[in-house]
Amino acid sequence: MLIDSHAHLDSSRYTDDREVVLRRASEAGVGAVLAIGIGEGPSEMHQALDICRQFNGKPGIPQLYASAGIYPHNAPEAEDGALHKLDALLSEPEVIACGEIGLDYYHQGAAHPVQKEGLIAQLKIAAARKRPILIHCRPKEGANDAWDDLFEVLDEHWAATGLRGVMHCFGGGWEQARRSLELGFLISFAGNLTYPKAQPLRDVAAKVPVDSVLVETDAPWLAPAELRGKRNEPAFVTQTAQTLAQLHHVSPDEVAAATSKNFARLFNLSFGMGN
Ligand SMILES: [Zn+2]
Repeated sequence: MLIDSHAHLDSSRYTDDREVVLRRASEAGVGAVLAIGIGEGPSEMHQALDICRQFNGKPGIPQLYASAGIYPHNAPEAEDGALHKLDALLSEPEVIACGEIGLDYYHQGAAHPVQKEGLIAQLKIAAARKRPILIHCRPKEGANDAWDDLFEVLDEHWAATGLRGVMHCFGGGWEQARRSLELGFLISFAGNLTYPKAQPLRDVAAKVPVDSVLVETDAPWLAPAELRGKRNEPAFVTQTAQTLAQLHHVSPDEVAAATSKNFARLFNLSFGMGN
C-alpha cells in the first residue's frame, strides 16, 4: 500500500470527477491520502475535512485524512477568527496534521515578518492540539533565506514540544535535509523528484534514510515527468515511489511499505500492516 501524504483534494480542478480520481488512486494501490486543508485561504480550511467525511467508508476509495492550516501567503489572514477555526478543526479526529504552514520567499506575497508571525501562531495551536506539522518552505531562487528563518523558528518554537512534522515537497539541499532529520522530521518527496533536471534533488533523496521519507503528489500540481503540465492526482504518487526505489536500490514495494510505516508512526495510526 502506498500513501499520498499531500494532495489538495479540495481543488476546484476535481469538482467534476473527484470520486473517479479517488477510485483511480485506489486501483493504483494508494491506500490512504492526506487531504491538505488550506483552500484558497482560511475561509476554506474546512474543505479537506468535508471531503474526508464525504468519502470515507465508501468502498473502492482510499482512506482519507485531512489537515488544516494557513498557507504562508495567507498569513495576513491569520487573525483571531481564522486561528480559532484552525484550533477547532485540529480537534477533529480526521484532522491529523497542521499544514501546510511555513515560509515562502520565492513568490511575491506576504511580507516575511508577517509569514513568520503566522507560522509561530499556528505552531502554538498545533502544539496544544498535539498535531504534527506539514511544512512548506521555499527560499528565493539560489538562496537559503527561508530555510534559515524556518530552522530558527522551529528551534525556538517547535523542537521542545517533542512533536514532529513533515518537510513537504522537499526541495532543499543535504544541509537542509540533515537539519530536518535532526528535528525528527520526515522528508516528503513529490513528482519533481522525477524531473530530468532534478539530479541534485535525487542525490539528496538517495542519502535520506528510507525510514525518514514519505511520498506525495502535491496534486493537482507537480505532475511527474511523463505527465508534466497535466493535472496531477494521487494515483501518480506511484511514479515518485518508483524513482525513490531506484535511488535506494530497493523494490517499489519496499518503498511503499516503508513510507506507509513512516506515515503511520508519525500520525499514530495503524493500518494493520503486520510489520
Ligand atoms: Zn501543497
